[in-house]
Amino acid sequence: MTTTRINHTGHNHPSTTTARTACRKAMKVTAKVTLVDGGRVGRGNAIHISIVATDGSMYGVKCGAGMTRSAMRGNSALTNLGRIDLTTVTCKTCRASYGQAQA
Ligand SMILES: [Zn+2]
Ligand SMILES: [Zn+2]
Repeated sequence: MTTTRINHTGHNHPSTTTARTACRKAMKVTAKVTLVDGGRVGRGNAIHISIVATDGSMYGVKCGAGMTRSAMRGNSALTNLGRIDLTTVTCKTCRASYGQAQA
């Protein structure tokens, strides 16, 4: 695989290997911030990744929470939290499904 080369021109750090490595690490961390559509289901505190329709309305969460019981009790109320950092998603199923479903 090819190594991603970062152009450090214009960066506010010395042109040393140490500074470049630190810079690359910092950029990696920044790049890791992934914004997803967050949502809550019912009265639960878990934060899920919501499934949002093209019109912006939320109609479910990735792991399917709140939908499985719909036939019995009706849909759980969905709370759209808007764009949130993937790391704030507390539902492991949603986190695990992120990426796979979108690939
Ligand atoms: Zn740099
Ligand atoms: Zn979930």
